[in-house]
Amino acid sequence: MKTSFIGGEWRQGTDIYRNINPSDTTDVVDEFSQADQTLAESAIDSAHEAFGSRKVLGIQARAEALDKVGNELLARRNELGELLSREEGKTRPEGIGEVTRAGQIFKFFAGEVVRQRGEHLDSVRPGVTVDIAREAVGVVGIITPWNFPIAIPAWKIAPALAYGNCVVFKPAEGVPSSAWALSEIISRAGFGDGVFNLLIGRGSVVGKTMLESPKVDAITFTGSTITGARVMATAGARFAKLQLEMGGKNPLVITDDADLETALNCTIQGSYYSTGQRCTASSRIIVTEGIYSKFRDALIDRLGSLQVGHALAPDTDIGPVVDANQLETDLKYVGIGKNEGATLAYGGEHLTRDTNGYFMAPALLTDVDNTMRVAREEIFGPVACLIAARDFDDALQKANDSEFGLSAGICTTSLKLASHFKREIQAGMVMVNVPTAGVDYHVPFGGRKASSYGSREQGSYAAEFYTTVKTSYNG
Ligand code: NAD
Repeated sequence: MKTSFIGGEWRQGTDIYRNINPSDTTDVVDEFSQADQTLAESAIDSAHEAFGSRKVLGIQARAEALDKVGNELLARRNELGELLSREEGKTRPEGIGEVTRAGQIFKFFAGEVVRQRGEHLDSVRPGVTVDIAREAVGVVGIITPWNFPIAIPAWKIAPALAYGNCVVFKPAEGVPSSAWALSEIISRAGFGDGVFNLLIGRGSVVGKTMLESPKVDAITFTGSTITGARVMATAGARFAKLQLEMGGKNPLVITDDADLETALNCTIQGSYYSTGQRCTASSRIIVTEGIYSKFRDALIDRLGSLQVGHALAPDTDIGPVVDANQLETDLKYVGIGKNEGATLAYGGEHLTRDTNGYFMAPALLTDVDNTMRVAREEIFGPVACLIAARDFDDALQKANDSEFGLSAGICTTSLKLASHFKREIQAGMVMVNVPTAGVDYHVPFGGRKASSYGSREQGSYAAEFYTTVKTSYNG
């Protein structure tokens, strides 16, 4: 039975949660004892006490501890990647890739610890100087979703610890095994009791306690826009520092002059890999009229060659949907699209395989209008919408006509169109001839509009959220 980690000790909760493999529902990946409100308060108290009593390591020891976590993640990438695939349903290469990413992130922030900067300036007043320093924020509450169960925790925990904060971490309730494995590695890295705390439990119980507690100075959240709004209403009302990464409805524009092979690769990878369960997935494929029919027919052909199956089977391209609820949602949206007048051109049905899992044939809806619900609401599954555009300007207008603004892509061979798109698109990340999903760990990550709120994550830009600025005048 796996438990929460509080003040340097593993602590039992109250009720039990079974983490089930979505590729094979007879396989119980792990059993967890879930924390209640009392344990959540205890974790927050531990972090608060550790920060207040200056238990945070000095920068050399902190850098070494982060590096140690990164090294262990990289050394165990195959084992942990398999665990990730078992609990979330990503294919084995995707699972291993995600663990590798987590290891690289810890090693990046190990370097950042000793790269902190301040400024020393002359004052406008004679005989006075000014120092500008960055200090840790205090206790950072970290709340993460299920779709990147180790990389997202890593890209929040590593900078939080690197910049000298204490952490209370609550992973997604449905998929906590990879996050628990990461926390177990951190628990042995020597950060000090109370500096890092893990809460296994429900969002509505332990997450809510974190949002409400005045001892949690900052909340970094990744998840749905609906929950993000709740985080804002509760933690924002008490003026906690907030960073929210939420949903997407990312457009991929394909223009008449696009290289067909590049456009197909970007669509298949961006829309369907990781079972389409990525905030950066391309869910709206906006294609100009001159290439629409040719592209649609070639895409249907390519979809026919994708293997859907058990996440750990060697020939699988697309693993299962994460759970029964998400599968129901995905199938429901295929029905909504058809009722709205879209054509189901490929897939969209529940598939049976040798094991009992949540398998779904990748769905392609064509003849989609950008006003339909399937083009406006985040589905978060292997479902893509093909939307026709008159020309580039119409495609750009449709791409921007969304409440979201996380990632956006264009496939074109025209430098002029690519430059125009990069300038005019309302998104935090723009991809030219590469999939909308797939980002680097050393550069800023985040979006605009209802996709993101607060400063960017990742790379050296992470310092903005995990530190607070102090200006000192020296007379
Ligand atoms: P979710 O909003 O249901 O849950 C996210 C986290 O919030 C979980 O840990 C959950 O337990 C917690 N939570 C739920 N209710 C809470 C409450 N009342 N108080 C505090 N915490 C609470 O999201 P999900 O289904 O786990 O993840 C899918 C969503 O995440 C999608 O919308 C996807 O686009 C988004 N996402 C965004 C990014 C990004 O960087 N923009 C990355 C990955 C996923």
